[in-house]
Amino acid sequence: MADIILIAGPCSAESRKQFLSTAEEATRAGAGMLRAGLWKPRTSPYSFDGVGEKGLAWLAEAQRLTGLPVATEVATPDHLRLCIDAGIRCVWLGARTTANPFMVQLIANAISECSQKDITVLVKNPVNPDVAAWHGAIQRLQKTGAKRIIAVHRGFSQATAEMRNKQLRNEPIWSLPLRLKRLMPDIELICDPSHIAGDAALVPVIAQQALDLNFDGLMVEVHCSPEQALSDARQQLSPAQFRQMLASLHRPEHNDTDDAALQACRNEIDEIDSAIWKLILERKRVAKEIGNIKRKSRKSVYQQQRFEQLLNNRLQWAQEHNLPKDVVVRIIEALHEIAIAEQL
Ligand code: PEP
Ligand code: MN
Repeated sequence: MADIILIAGPCSAESRKQFLSTAEEATRAGAGMLRAGLWKPRTSPYSFDGVGEKGLAWLAEAQRLTGLPVATEVATPDHLRLCIDAGIRCVWLGARTTANPFMVQLIANAISECSQKDITVLVKNPVNPDVAAWHGAIQRLQKTGAKRIIAVHRGFSQATAEMRNKQLRNEPIWSLPLRLKRLMPDIELICDPSHIAGDAALVPVIAQQALDLNFDGLMVEVHCSPEQALSDARQQLSPAQFRQMLASLHRPEHNDTDDAALQACRNEIDEIDSAIWKLILERKRVAKEIGNIKRKSRKSVYQQQRFEQLLNNRLQWAQEHNLPKDVVVRIIEALHEIAIAEQL
């Protein structure tokens, strides 16, 4: 995995010993950058919320010992300034910060005001599936003159129960980071499989999916003894698990233009898509007719019961055919949106 950006380290730096031991093991396993949270965004005020400022010295010590840069989360301009003063030049904006343009701008201002420009900023996607907010946050940081900006895909929370994946902590919704990459073709895009999976056993699966989608690297939570971790214990890999994962991952070849069998399948896909489009137009025509009938009999356009019946029926079908529930919900909602627009 020498050709990818590989960031590893604990969710939180908990003690000097824990962090240095993890840092050393992650470095030996092949990490190119280390990570550790000092200020942790926790849902409950009673959870461990990080060691704060005193951990900066451990991060700086790990940089000296391993020769690798260490990244930490900054959630306020003060965090950023403290990092710079301590010699920490790699920082990340967490999902909750990226969701807040005011805070992103305040941190961007602090970077702009800083004479030190040798700064790498990792920008996690916002918690909600909002690519525009992610894009905007990256643009705000690009304006600061920071040397390197890296986008980090850590999955999204889902609004509704039927869209929520029972196995994963956060939905990957892969189409969204890929959309960001289309908006910013030159941006380096890496994946944080730990916060998507929420479960150590699933981290390698998500990591491989990211590599299959041409992600430029991974940020993985690794802890010297995960079972004792003070935050995100379930999803952190032990150094041995981290090594094992790296040995099993492969980075596929990107170039595919010379494959005839692939070309034949693509022609078939083009035909199928064209048939789907025709059906969508058909559906739109019938929806309009329904709209006319509703108007004449003074019935409302949105019939919740009918929509729920339809959605449940299609979801059952999706389940029988092993299609991802959240994607099917999005398809049905999109089709419904076309019908509603036609009837309004
Ligand atoms: C983290 O990286 O430990 C973290 C809190 O991540 P996120 O902002 O993605 O939830
Ligand atoms: Mn974490």
